[in-house]
Amino acid sequence: MSFFADVILPIPLEKQFTYLLTPEQADLLQEGMRVAVPFGKSKVYTGLVYRVHRQPPQVYDAKPIDQVLDETPLVTERQLRHWEWLADYYMCSLGDVFRAALPSSLLLESETLVCKAGDFEGDESDLSDEEWLVLEALQHQPQLKVHEVGAVIDRKNVLPVLKRLIEKGVVELKEEVVEQYKPKKVRYIRLMPDYEKEEALQTLLDDLSRAPRQREVLLTLYRLEAVDQKPVRTTELEKESGASSAILRTMIDKGILEDYYLEIDRLQGTEADAGALFELNEFQQQAFEEIEQAFQFKDTVLLHGVTSSGKTEVYFKLIDRALEQQKQVLFLVPEIALTTQLIKRLERRFGTKVSVFHSRYSSNERVEVWHAVKDRDEKARIVVGARSAVLLPFSDLGLVVVDEEHETSYKQFEPAPRYHGRDSAIVLAAIHGAKTLLGSATPSVESYYNARTGKYGLVQITRRFGNVLMPDMEICDIKDAHRRKKMQGHFSERLTEAIRECLDEGEQVILFQNRRGFAPILECNTCGHSPQCPNCDVSLTFHKYKNQLRCHYCGHHMAMQLSCLACGSSELDTKGFGTEQIEAEAKELFPGAKTGRMDSDSTRGKHGYEKIISAFEQQEYDILVGTQMITKGLDFRNVTLVGILQADTMLNFPDFRAHERSFQLIQQVAGRAGRTRKRGKVIIQSFNPHHQILQQASTNSYEEMFEDQMNERRQFHYPPVYKMIKFVFKGRDYNRVNEAADWYAGALRNTFLSSGGFEVLGPEFPPVARIRNRYHKHAILKIGPGVSLKQTKAVLKKIGKSYTAIANFRSVRLINDVDNY
Ligand code: ADP
Ligand code: ZN
Ligand code: ZN
Repeated sequence: MSFFADVILPIPLEKQFTYLLTPEQADLLQEGMRVAVPFGKSKVYTGLVYRVHRQPPQVYDAKPIDQVLDETPLVTERQLRHWEWLADYYMCSLGDVFRAALPSSLLLESETLVCKAGDFEGDESDLSDEEWLVLEALQHQPQLKVHEVGAVIDRKNVLPVLKRLIEKGVVELKEEVVEQYKPKKVRYIRLMPDYEKEEALQTLLDDLSRAPRQREVLLTLYRLEAVDQKPVRTTELEKESGASSAILRTMIDKGILEDYYLEIDRLQGTEADAGALFELNEFQQQAFEEIEQAFQFKDTVLLHGVTSSGKTEVYFKLIDRALEQQKQVLFLVPEIALTTQLIKRLERRFGTKVSVFHSRYSSNERVEVWHAVKDRDEKARIVVGARSAVLLPFSDLGLVVVDEEHETSYKQFEPAPRYHGRDSAIVLAAIHGAKTLLGSATPSVESYYNARTGKYGLVQITRRFGNVLMPDMEICDIKDAHRRKKMQGHFSERLTEAIRECLDEGEQVILFQNRRGFAPILECNTCGHSPQCPNCDVSLTFHKYKNQLRCHYCGHHMAMQLSCLACGSSELDTKGFGTEQIEAEAKELFPGAKTGRMDSDSTRGKHGYEKIISAFEQQEYDILVGTQMITKGLDFRNVTLVGILQADTMLNFPDFRAHERSFQLIQQVAGRAGRTRKRGKVIIQSFNPHHQILQQASTNSYEEMFEDQMNERRQFHYPPVYKMIKFVFKGRDYNRVNEAADWYAGALRNTFLSSGGFEVLGPEFPPVARIRNRYHKHAILKIGPGVSLKQTKAVLKKIGKSYTAIANFRSVRLINDVDNY
């Protein structure tokens, strides 16, 4: 009887694929090990062994696996249980999760290799020079990669040459799986053993008396080795002796020195700094004790602490506890790039125990974190990362901290798995029997609801650290200001005054401009035309800095127009206003001050964001104009004034969470003001100064906001009262997308509406219905309290199957997005 393995492939297949094993492989293979397997006609994938068993597949003949890639499991059992939950809950395949979890270099790539055709003995006379060169190279080497062929014939576009060679039967292509991950190696240098004896060395130095530079190299090497008793890097020797690499080369060739390579660790951290250890104040201490108590009864605790109450120090104390118990800690942040200040604090406090897991790091660096986490290495006792860090192979997790738990960037939108980092972390913690702490100054309504209903513990800190007062918040009526001509551009007289005062005191100002709905567009005053993106259903937005019109979805751009493309009129106007415009106005109003800007344009490039933050920290700017980015938990000591230029568009955004979000945003930006000695000031400009959310935000009435929002959610059946699953239909053909979405929404109605507790919305086109030439349409299923989610999803799977069976809809992709809100 044969053995088989079910293998997870990194593609969205609903089931695992089954492969045939040799008896030796069956002995060796364990769940969680990688194998290279053939799939389809010619593909090779890296798969993950999910189960070894003895039942042959029923509808196909199992193929053998090509290669076993691991000696021990790369993925742990707990990790697999977590992945199963993710696939199940977020309605995607295990393959989707597998692909998202593994750093790409652990997911082997099929690289095309070229080799000489086995049976080619033929005539070389009809080969061109280039073709002959390739054949010549293949006489010496059994195979070449495509890019190596390029080097042989010295041209980039080698495919035509290869194509001709294949047609002539000279070469053939070979698919082979290659291991990409290579540990980083560093070149070291040492004296050849022959010269280690004193006399030998002396003779050598005498011999070199006429080669002073080589002599110098030798003496330097001697000195470096003596000082550190550690291997000497080639680069270090070059630098210290002032010698070129050519001189070292000569000495190696002469047999005086030898070079060698050592693997180094990419994750070298710095030592912890004792100065980063603080005593908790009484409020922090109390919160800490309450959290520890709550953890005895609850797995998850929400820490609701106002901005600058010192939540971070409380997290650190809890981390200390977990470390004392020899456990691992996962510290989740919404976005790594926006959390450099926090990461620095963690590193200062915990030193080499901290590893950062960042999707923008190279795959090799991520592989090293992966292994460190799996092997319970000291340097990965604390892992800081964005949501994808929940997919790492933790072996013994004790604590998960989710900082700024209200942030919507915890949710993955594209591609699958469309998971929520916070919610997945709570499940991961449960699998490990670990505890989760959620922290925020403005908790999400759903988490606060969970805390109120007793699912989570709730701990509050209502005082800022150091007895600093909460900022003084003032709402400025700009409708009135406009009427009384008290506006200069977008600045009210009140705001201008306050900025002046602040600048006079040598303090800094933050001006917040909401990104959404504020893109400046070009509009013709004669015919009303505004230039559109040819690929997406949106107006192009005006970028002053580049003098361009650009699409925010696909990047399509054109030069700024001087006359209307439709009617030729030259009366064009830019409507709406963005951070660039605010920056320009601020520069004009406050010519003596230095003004900077932080938004997704000004922070492009690897360290763009850090540069602006540190420039502002160093007070190279007096005024910083920014979008949402500046709300993210930054700690600037010298900021005493925050201006919110126009609060209204965030309030009016068509989304059931618009009010909750506005409250959070206002409180978070306001939290940047006056974090040290002096009380901060916040001015909120609005056309609706009496709006309840502005009132609540400016009086720190979180509870009141929560009650109001919950009433609305109950009344209109929104989360957290109802659950929502969104279905997105995407395709190039407008009619097909319509038909598919109609069919699906019809099926939802037929299936669910007869039994109570469900609602179906749509199908509807979203505000931007076409992106990159693909039409989008949505439908939403609302699932009432008390309805089984599991059963609902099982039914949805069946509907999904019928959908994919309809040939007409094959070109329209169906995407399930669970908890999309
Ligand atoms: P939050 O995360 O709640 O916004 P932070 O943890 O950033 O607040 O704390 C605000 C400021 O107070 C930071 O500059 C921090 O260094 C300082 N701070 C907080 N707790 C302490 C403490 N126990 N001792 C000294 N400084 C503290
Ligand atoms: Zn016009
Ligand atoms: Zn576009």
